[in-house]
Amino acid sequence: MYSSEIQSLLKQEDIEVGDRVNVNGFEGVLMPKPDKSSTETVILKLDSGYNLGLEPEELELLEKKEQEEVEKTDIPYSEDKPDILVLHTGGTIASRVSYEEGGVKPAFDPEDLVEMYPELTEICNVHSEVIAQMLSEDMEPGHWRDIAEKIDSVKDSYDGIIIGHGTDTLGYTGAALNFMLQNIDTGVLLVGSQRSSDRPSSDAAINLYSAAKFLTETEFNGIGVCMHETSDDSTCTVLPGSKARKMHTSRRDAFKSVNREALGSVNYEEDTVEFEDTRRDAEYVKNLDIDSNVGFIKVRPGMTVEEIDFLIEQDYNGVIIEGTGLGHMPVNSFDSKTEHHEKILEKVEELAENCLVVMTSQCINGRIDMDVYDAGLKIKDAGVIEAKDMHPELAYVKLMWSLGNSESLEQAEQLFTKDIGGEVTERSLYHE
Ligand code: ASP
Repeated sequence: MYSSEIQSLLKQEDIEVGDRVNVNGFEGVLMPKPDKSSTETVILKLDSGYNLGLEPEELELLEKKEQEEVEKTDIPYSEDKPDILVLHTGGTIASRVSYEEGGVKPAFDPEDLVEMYPELTEICNVHSEVIAQMLSEDMEPGHWRDIAEKIDSVKDSYDGIIIGHGTDTLGYTGAALNFMLQNIDTGVLLVGSQRSSDRPSSDAAINLYSAAKFLTETEFNGIGVCMHETSDDSTCTVLPGSKARKMHTSRRDAFKSVNREALGSVNYEEDTVEFEDTRRDAEYVKNLDIDSNVGFIKVRPGMTVEEIDFLIEQDYNGVIIEGTGLGHMPVNSFDSKTEHHEKILEKVEELAENCLVVMTSQCINGRIDMDVYDAGLKIKDAGVIEAKDMHPELAYVKLMWSLGNSESLEQAEQLFTKDIGGEVTERSLYHE
């Protein structure tokens, strides 16, 4: 609580927590006082999303906070419009600022969606269901299975499905759905937002609208991701679900496709859609099995033998190595500082005896090629296989899925290296 002095000042101006105010020339929303902040300051949430502590020399009320709607809007329905189902799993896209707690928290039920994004109802009948309420950093492989199960059970009743998802691990879920719902005969787009919907710079509404537009105006079937293409509000891009990766912590155009072109785009300003259907004709296969007993290690200067020992002790069925460059790790000993590198190689060989060990690259873009340098050849000889043009997180999810659907490591290797849904190619085009 604010000090009694500040409280009486706020009372005098009829200002409450949640109201929009001007403090010493700074505009924002008045937040509650965090336990550790100074008793002399009030906390403002600026439109940029940052909180600022200010001594209230000049205080002015700009706008009272919105009162909770008691009556929810009836969702309009039209026989002539396509039906789009929005499944919420949580994340910023399903969140708004909590004035009580000072942070961003999930707060939507289905009708809220229509109230928040009325544009959606102009192009489709919106149906919505909350299937989880979590920030995506808390997602577990078991949640991917629940989402896939839900999509499978409802896909024939809708013209398209949007999955509202936190952006942090959205790429992992995209990859998992790509394998679990192979060649799905419905369009499914994962949509997140980098800024919550109550901030003026929010990307939530445009990402959602663009996803619905794409699903209703194209023949797209499959798993994709729809997010801002540029940092302004002009276009959204639709990326292949398995190849989309969050490449920036805060920009609205954070998602890029790794080693593959976008599937299409939506020009929000002109309200147009671009899509070229290149999908192959193949049968829908639902396969939700997954083996999450998979480890992950990042190569870097200073690696120790004990780290590989630890992986061996864990009894993993699969391990992803996020190597350097074309797929390397320190395996050459030539002076006192590198003496342990040969031992690392020996340990990797031991690890690969009972576990499928896959080399990926921290370069993210590009293809693994362990035939170029001596180090790569040695690691390959030790039993490590190449992830080809799959980036580390995609390879991690695919390894879990491949192991979950195999009786042996050989079978898992065959599944892992094969293309399931456009996530791996045998050749890469050279991009400057
Ligand atoms: N940490 C959040 C999440 O991934 C961020 C977001 O929602 O975009 O759920």
